[in-house]
Amino acid sequence: MSYQLPEKLRNLVPYEPLSGEYKVRLDANESFISLPPAIRAELGDELARIYFRRYPDPNCTKLCEKFGEFFQVPSNLVVAGNGSDELIGLLVSSFTEYGDAMLVVEPDFSMYGFYAQMCGLKVVSLDKRMNGLVLNGDALVEAAKESNAKLVILSNPCNPTSLTVSREEIIAIVQRLNDCLVVIDEAYMDFSKGSVMDLVEKYDNLVVLKTFSKAFGMAAIRLGFAISNLTVVNALKAVKSPYNVNTMTQVAGCVLLGHPDYLKECIYIIKKSRDDLYEKLLLLKEKKTQIEEVINTTANFVYVKVYKAQDVFEQLKEKGIAIRFMGDYLRITTGDSQENGLLLEALFKILK
Ligand SMILES: *Cc1c(COP(=O)(O)O)cnc(C)c1O
Repeated sequence: MSYQLPEKLRNLVPYEPLSGEYKVRLDANESFISLPPAIRAELGDELARIYFRRYPDPNCTKLCEKFGEFFQVPSNLVVAGNGSDELIGLLVSSFTEYGDAMLVVEPDFSMYGFYAQMCGLKVVSLDKRMNGLVLNGDALVEAAKESNAKLVILSNPCNPTSLTVSREEIIAIVQRLNDCLVVIDEAYMDFSKGSVMDLVEKYDNLVVLKTFSKAFGMAAIRLGFAISNLTVVNALKAVKSPYNVNTMTQVAGCVLLGHPDYLKECIYIIKKSRDDLYEKLLLLKEKKTQIEEVINTTANFVYVKVYKAQDVFEQLKEKGIAIRFMGDYLRITTGDSQENGLLLEALFKILK
């Protein structure tokens, strides 16, 4: 007998972000703002003081306190993770039983369904494309009830559509699916309005996810948060690996959260840049019939329906500009004015 991989792993390939060198990277919804020298220096000093021989604080106590102050939530309702990706994996795998149904919407962040596959969940998908990419809350509740879903997870604002579901609609979903865990991934909520983070104590089935990778420009350190009621928070703390967030990341998170004005400034600058990119793409649509639709964005990227999208994506790549190709659509992260300028110039040349 020879060793065989389990069936579910045989056709799996590692996640492959765009490889190669690009002069403009607008493919991963990262921030275009580099950490200022003063904060970098402070971070360097703090990192130099770490007790490297000691294990990290498993509860990320100081970090969760600072997070709680910034977002106005009690720090005992906050769990830190090695990126929100880790927390998504934990919620999907540990808050369900083998064979349970989990509801996702389509299109949405692909990692949700990926983790579900690994632990034998039935993934039920509600397609928003029939409804102009807009989430129909009633349809979602119906689909969840019909499939007896134990977990619903969706991003709000949505990656990739860039649209936000209203706070009222999210509340209605949470209330009506009261025996199902509802996870709202607010990775892009800093750029929009309608967070439900303040409501986690009010419901026993609501989890909100946040990340440092987007608005805060810290994708490199891998830091995300889950906010929920005490019961869910305690269960999440119990199932996570004890030292999931390393000390360097905890220190970096604390340093960043020690500069709330800087973080708010980042959000303001990124919103301005994405508004500008959106306006300019709309203008380009007037001249180029190949652009079919530019979705009005509430995130840090623009979702654009383009005829022969893959061609356009490949031609941009040849010019050293990386964006995300998604079927009939292109998802373009907003960059600084120079990067957006280069992108728009290239699109002007490529599009008919
Ligand atoms: C980018 C992204 C994340 C990833 O967050 P990490 O903290 O970097 O793991 C989570 N959810 C959505 C919807 C995202 O777009």
